[in-house]
Amino acid sequence: MLRQPILLLAKSDKVKNLVSTMPVSSGIVTSYVPGETTGSAVDASAGLIDDGLHVTLDFLGEDTLDRAQADATVAAYKELLAELARRGLSGRAEVSVKLSAVGQALPDEGEKVALENAREICRAARNAGTTVTLDMEDHTTTDSTLEILRNLRKDFPETGAVLQAMLHRTEADCRSLAYEGSRVRLCKGAYHEPESVAFQDKVDIDKSYVRCLKVLLAGQGYPMIASHDPRMIQIASALASRHGRNHGTYEFQMLYGIRPEEQRRLAEAGETVRVYIPYGQEWYGYLMRRLAERPQNLTFFLRSLVSK
Ligand code: FAD
Repeated sequence: MLRQPILLLAKSDKVKNLVSTMPVSSGIVTSYVPGETTGSAVDASAGLIDDGLHVTLDFLGEDTLDRAQADATVAAYKELLAELARRGLSGRAEVSVKLSAVGQALPDEGEKVALENAREICRAARNAGTTVTLDMEDHTTTDSTLEILRNLRKDFPETGAVLQAMLHRTEADCRSLAYEGSRVRLCKGAYHEPESVAFQDKVDIDKSYVRCLKVLLAGQGYPMIASHDPRMIQIASALASRHGRNHGTYEFQMLYGIRPEEQRRLAEAGETVRVYIPYGQEWYGYLMRRLAERPQNLTFFLRSLVSK
């Protein structure tokens, strides 16, 4: 019930300015973000990889209207990828990129800039021996993101896509993307979306998630099941068995700091489990989306604000 109001409030500049003054070291932030630097992200990756997990790293940032900022984001990914390779982690570590952080939202040439920047990150990832997944943002960007994906896949077919079960269109998008070699992350969707394009009730979103799972797990691609929901995980496992899929022909994904014991349980059972690690200074939007999913954490969050 509190999800939509929190996501709406998160758009207020006043709230953003107040919350962004919190140090990254404050408890609520570190429970979701291991740090602001490349070093802190790579150290967190090494710890999870030692525990038998895989990771995907997201240099936090979104909706940039500044070309220099978009270029700085590309540089941050290149530094990260070089460091992952140097520490021998890139076999189990890939990166997740938000196109709006690399220029998609720039006026005029936004899509072109985002494609070129994403291409540069894909090239650096391939040199490091790993891959890129394009995060999905709100529904106004879906067509543009899928078009950029199609272009990138001509040279980098290993590039991963993300689809959001809450959107009405997603079952059809799953069908289009369930082809051989196609890596597709299925999540529920983290953005505030209108009724015209998205299911609003949890029950309807969950039903859509299951329909999409059926398409992806029956298909020829590589499904990446991104959910902490015990029911979705159970249903995905059952569907994978029904379709004769062996471990390693699909994977589970969860966010850093959420249900870590379940991440390890699945990995110990032989599943591939990838943890999404966000890092950097621009943690505000990410934190607000996590709070919207878990309003129980609001008290903890408000206490951190008062005591800062
Ligand atoms: P929910 O029904 O929200 O939660 C199920 C259970 O998980 C809860 O009952 C609770 O036990 C636990 N849980 C959920 N959230 C929290 C929390 N914040 N703190 C503690 N426990 C929690 N969304 C996008 O829109 N675009 C993306 O590109 C994207 N990438 C993602 C990548 C990964 C690897 C993951 C795991 C999620 C991603 N998401 C993305 C977010 C996703 O869309 C959901 O918003 C988020 O995962 C919550 O949905 P859920 O499936 O976990 O189910």
